[in-house]
Amino acid sequence: MDKISNWGLFPSILAKESSPRSVSELKNYLSTNPEFIPRGNGRCYGDSSLAKNICSTLKLNRFLAFNQEKGIIHCESGVLLSDILKVCVPKKFFLPVTPGTKFITLGGAIASNVHGKNHHKEGAFSQFVISFELLTNEGIVLECSREKNIQLFRGTIGGMGLTGVIVSASIQLKPIETSYIKQKAIKANGLDELMGLFDQYQNYTYSVAWIDCLKSGKNMGRSILMLGEHASQNEIEALPIKEPLSLHSEKQFKIPFAFPSFTLNHLTISIFNALYYGKQWKKEVNNYVHYNPYFYPLDILSNWNLIYGKKGFVQYQFAIPFENGKEGMKEILSRISESGTGSFLAVLKTFGSADSFSSPLSFPMKGYTLALDFKVNQKVFALLDELDLLVLKYGGKLYLAKDSRMSKEFFERTYSDDFKHSNQFNSLQSQRLGI
Ligand SMILES: Cc1cc2nc3c(=O)[nH]c(=O)nc-3n(C[C@H](O)[C@H](O)[C@H](O)COP(=O)(O)OP(=O)(O)OC[C@H]3O[C@@H](n4cnc5c(N)ncnc54)[C@H](O)[C@@H]3O)c2cc1C
Repeated sequence: MDKISNWGLFPSILAKESSPRSVSELKNYLSTNPEFIPRGNGRCYGDSSLAKNICSTLKLNRFLAFNQEKGIIHCESGVLLSDILKVCVPKKFFLPVTPGTKFITLGGAIASNVHGKNHHKEGAFSQFVISFELLTNEGIVLECSREKNIQLFRGTIGGMGLTGVIVSASIQLKPIETSYIKQKAIKANGLDELMGLFDQYQNYTYSVAWIDCLKSGKNMGRSILMLGEHASQNEIEALPIKEPLSLHSEKQFKIPFAFPSFTLNHLTISIFNALYYGKQWKKEVNNYVHYNPYFYPLDILSNWNLIYGKKGFVQYQFAIPFENGKEGMKEILSRISESGTGSFLAVLKTFGSADSFSSPLSFPMKGYTLALDFKVNQKVFALLDELDLLVLKYGGKLYLAKDSRMSKEFFERTYSDDFKHSNQFNSLQSQRLGI
């Protein structure tokens, strides 16, 4: 037994983790473990991939095929998105949807049906999954796609590992000309202005806003909106950039120890936020940036989760529909700024419609989505319970991949109960929520 936690370091449990290296080892694991949960790289924040018995897919990490004409890649489920980038970028392809870290597995991307900064235009990961092989509780590997084993295909995308172990998958990549992003960064003084900018620039492929969640009054929601498009070869040729298809650097820095819990407080977060907002002098900046800092600014620190201290943190990500969304966001942000807690990372995005080829447990729904980190302490759970009531009031829901504390009642009121799975696959989360 080892002490294991996911990215938020909360909860942390004693569990037995095994790492099969092949389909036959995986089948053997399944036949000898009556109950377990698959786990990728542990980049969900809470307890979605925690259980007493954990089946890690990290050693199922082989590339199986790459059709360079069609941009279709077939890999085992434990391959990291960072490794897919290394293969596809030099061939002028990019991930069609990518979360804020590249250190997740292909299996984890499918099981959480991850979204990126382009959901409003291009949808979630589900849109680009062509097929996958799933090991079910019957010990057989089934090929699932929009034509074969359709129910399992749908139930597994966003199904949080509860339908079986994804063994391998084929996904459609997106063509690019360079590895650079043409970025437009615009400062907004408050929430009304920011939401106006989201509307005005809705045709941009990528959009995300960093929000200062401690500001109140007329400056509540002061923010920087970052828009982006993949840069063309012509654009990059005009700049002093030597390698238009350069890859991300492997270099990462490490925080030497978990920060003492008092390090992040109202004062230090306010200072960080003022510096972050102040680093851009002009109202609008247009430039070209590499995909790595644009999509994965935090990956430069390999263990930034230790900033919140040993007790860890909870990421709270909710979505609320556009109707009444502005009012809802104002009420929720007011409550957070009043509480004086909150994170230096509050990220607002917009979602397009949900994909019908995904599980009822999948998160994206048309509307706004805001993600914030809260350091675990005595007060924080009561605050999050209050925020839940506001999310409920505005017809929203929480992202399971970030959750570690939602109540069964709240879950039942916000997600459909149209989800069945074998009891062999269970996580702490599925047990807590009665899934
Ligand atoms: C810094 C950071 C930024 C992030 N940004 C975003 C974002 O912008 N958008 C977003 O959507 N998410 C985001 N996430 C969350 C992350 O993308 C998801 O939680 C993702 O599922 C993690 O994948 P993983 O490989 O680490 O899997 P884990 O965290 O280990 O598992 C996640 C879920 O997938 C299941 N699973 C994993 N592998 C398999 C498999 N082979 N078969 C069946 N089930 C499996 C697990 O059971 C679990 O339910 C972010 C996380 C971090 C740390």
